[in-house]
Amino acid sequence: KLHNQIQELKGNIRVFCRVRPLLGDETLGNDGMISHMNFPDQEQRIIELDKTGDATLNESCLTKKGGNNAQSKYEFGFDKVFSDHTSQQQVFEEISQLVQSALDGYNVCIFAYGQTGSGKTYTMEGTSVNDVDNRGMIPRAVLQIFDSTRELESKGWKYALDASFLEIYNETIHDLLGDEDLKHDIKMSGQKNSNEVFVTNLTIVPVTKEEMVYQLLQKASKNRSVGETKCNERSSRSHSVFTLKLTGENSITGETSQGTLNLVDLAGSERLKESGSEGQRMKETLAINKSLSNLGNVIMAIGNKDNHIPYRNSKLTYLLQNSLGGNSKTLMFVNVSPKEECFQETLNSLRFATKVN
Ligand code: ADP
Ligand code: MG
Repeated sequence: KLHNQIQELKGNIRVFCRVRPLLGDETLGNDGMISHMNFPDQEQRIIELDKTGDATLNESCLTKKGGNNAQSKYEFGFDKVFSDHTSQQQVFEEISQLVQSALDGYNVCIFAYGQTGSGKTYTMEGTSVNDVDNRGMIPRAVLQIFDSTRELESKGWKYALDASFLEIYNETIHDLLGDEDLKHDIKMSGQKNSNEVFVTNLTIVPVTKEEMVYQLLQKASKNRSVGETKCNERSSRSHSVFTLKLTGENSITGETSQGTLNLVDLAGSERLKESGSEGQRMKETLAINKSLSNLGNVIMAIGNKDNHIPYRNSKLTYLLQNSLGGNSKTLMFVNVSPKEECFQETLNSLRFATKVN
């Protein structure tokens, strides 16, 4: 049944599921791996979750088969499922064509969705740009784009690349490439009947080689940690958006091309309770819930070809509206942890991702 279903996944929205490995200090057992996380098909498009033993979760969604033998099985199909031993390079190979299409004038958005600790930042940025094997999708995409522009020069193409990096925290945009502290007087404006959104006061850096972008990534992470000391766990409670604009011109044929590549590390999706949190925390919670659910709604509306797409219901979708829907391509990573204690959040994430697919 599921096998047939996933044959039909189509359109311009793709969803890849990635399971991170257990880390050094995480062990099997109570705090260990979900009893069974299976990847049953050769095509790597299905993930099976098997919760055995005495289900501690009393959610109605779990089919409890009584007593200590409670067992529940869940199957999800995606465009690709990466098990815990998939390398950054193997993951990148699956997105490299999508990245390439930004050079051909497409607007591309790649998101990482998942609970805090599930591997979103590892997938997008990696550990550090100096750690070549662990480099994430952003530095790999940047390297591929520069390699391609150098190759395309012989065919007459010349590209101008402009990078920016921002953070959306509490529905406020902060520049991550600014020189002083975190700038926060960033404004967006749009025009009726146009998908174009203008962002003012954002630092935009023309880049001519990959090392320049790697430096920007380091600057951004430094700027983020400044914010982190002011607000605990800030990076997991904000979205970060890396954008590369690619403007090409062919001196032989006269062709031009204008594409955008957006790589977005989303705020942690863990279900945040609105009751019990107060003040600042409450405000953050509402902002995250609103923007993640709105992102889901926008992607679904695009998939359903709705007339009205609710781009303006959150800063994130408003900012990206030109790169979502229409002539654009979207990919979402749903990152999950193999830890037993994360079971419920893993289910929530896989359900969200199934909905948008
Ligand atoms: P998130 O950004 O979703 O909060 P992180 O990317 O910070 O999660 O990942 C949590 C931890 O797990 C980090 O120490 C990270 O380096 C590690 N990690 C995540 N995914 C992998 C992976 N595929 N391989 C190795 N380590 C990983
Ligand atoms: Mg992170």
